[in-house]
Amino acid sequence: MVVKLFNTLSRSLEELKPLHDNEVRMYSCGPTVYDYAHIGNLRTFIVNDILRRTLEYTGYNVEHVMNITDIDDKMIMRANKESTTIGALSQKYENFLLADLKTLNILAPKKMPHATEHIGGMIAMTEKLLREGFAYIASDGVYFEVAKSKNYGALAHLDLNAETESRVEGALDKKNPRDFALWKFESPEDNGVAYEASFGRGRPGWHIECSEMSRDTLGETIDIHTGGVDLVFPHHTNEIAQSEAYSGKPFANMWVHAEFVMVDGQKMSKSLGNHTTLKTVTERGFSPLAFRYFVLGSHYRSKLNFTWEALEGAQTALGRLESHVGEIIGVANADYQKRFVEIVSNDLDTSRALALAWELVKDDSVSPADKTATLLHFDKVFGLGLAPKQTEIIPENIQALALARTEARASKNFSESDRLRDEINALGWDILDTNNGQEIRKK
Ligand code: AMP
Ligand code: ZN
Repeated sequence: MVVKLFNTLSRSLEELKPLHDNEVRMYSCGPTVYDYAHIGNLRTFIVNDILRRTLEYTGYNVEHVMNITDIDDKMIMRANKESTTIGALSQKYENFLLADLKTLNILAPKKMPHATEHIGGMIAMTEKLLREGFAYIASDGVYFEVAKSKNYGALAHLDLNAETESRVEGALDKKNPRDFALWKFESPEDNGVAYEASFGRGRPGWHIECSEMSRDTLGETIDIHTGGVDLVFPHHTNEIAQSEAYSGKPFANMWVHAEFVMVDGQKMSKSLGNHTTLKTVTERGFSPLAFRYFVLGSHYRSKLNFTWEALEGAQTALGRLESHVGEIIGVANADYQKRFVEIVSNDLDTSRALALAWELVKDDSVSPADKTATLLHFDKVFGLGLAPKQTEIIPENIQALALARTEARASKNFSESDRLRDEINALGWDILDTNNGQEIRKK
């Protein structure tokens, strides 16, 4: 099956041609676990998941790796502010992230390497780049020399003669403002977060983290690298420069970037304070999968404007779609299936795929049982959890905690209701606030 994806590198639709027969090696830049993920971050992770599911649906075996950035400037700053360690900080927010991924039916990546587990490899990579003259030592760290790189900036279509942007940071004695840090020497603000290295004690730069984790888990050349559009420059641009200088081989054949979730015309981000978490979404009575439906409703390369009204629309639509999934499962309709696979394998056109699902449910020539079977097939890619839910026996202690939580919420004691939710979660159950009240599910 031919899968076409828009490759940021060529700015065109390209046919995927995996390097290893039927196996697709795919690396996704994961979160920096210094805070709760917002639904903008989660859109990008849903897009990664749709890509993976589409590839699996079309018969590929996907080696999907997503890293966890558990050491960088943001981690250190936040740990200092909260008087904690980066280890404790990352463990806390990684757990929240994993719960969000699960609630959104995002398939667990096959590997989730942590940057702190790969420091030795990052040091070795930096040593080789120094030895081979691609990097040099400046006053505050080791820098990659952009002028030594072939084709620097091709991914972002950078004009290297143009003024460098102010966000290019680092030492005053860098050779070129675009040179970027592979390694940052220890400073007092780092609060002891530092590792010994032959070129000086310190910690890795953010870009080298992904280069090393991708190389170690998937090899020197991979099929697909993904992330949000903000990563095209500088993160992915710098990953390519250092990885290709290191190995002398192409780093990734295809680059797939998800567009932003926007709020009132601005990118959703923590720094702008306009972000919403999945927790808020459920506390406002929405099902998390309504958010997934909302994401599927737009092409991943389009900006997605988030409003509560739009989410409400998605929730209603999802409820209607679910109502067409019956208990009797017939045979998936071959014609609809064929059209579905053509649509999703054409650059993951999920909005057209949803339109096809609606066409199917309105089609009187297909029996309800066959509609159910076809929708369940589509759901292998949608991941909307359309399969009829098994009725679960909820243990008494969980029911008692849930009841106490309803009472706490009724008396607006939200800290107590949050505490009870955490307790329920810790016992292996999820609790969701829906239009019909609380829903309790086994994790
Ligand atoms: P971070 O935890 O900040 O490293 O971000 C994790 C992922 O979310 C990256 O791939 C970002 O590109 C992506 N991202 C950040 N903000 C948004 C947004 N508003 N909409 C969609 N993706 C985003
Ligand atoms: Zn990355």
